[in-house]
Amino acid sequence: MNKVKVDQNICIGCGACFGSYPDCFEMDDNGLAKEKENLTEEQAQEAEEAIDICPVGAIQEETEKD
Ligand code: SF4
Repeated sequence: MNKVKVDQNICIGCGACFGSYPDCFEMDDNGLAKEKENLTEEQAQEAEEAIDICPVGAIQEETEKD
């Protein structure tokens, strides 16, 4: 299953991801974005769309194989 992850070393906290996809991302205590856990398949797809709206490329696709 594909999942996205925010690299907080790159994120500038612009809010585009959690503004547009609040089901998928949230603001962390440090003002930076964090991906939410346990997304539905539909939400996971939205989270992947957010990769394209991040101005600094902080949202990255993660491929997990168990
Ligand atoms: S869109 Fe990118 S830079 Fe903006 S808050 Fe989300 S991860 Fe951070």
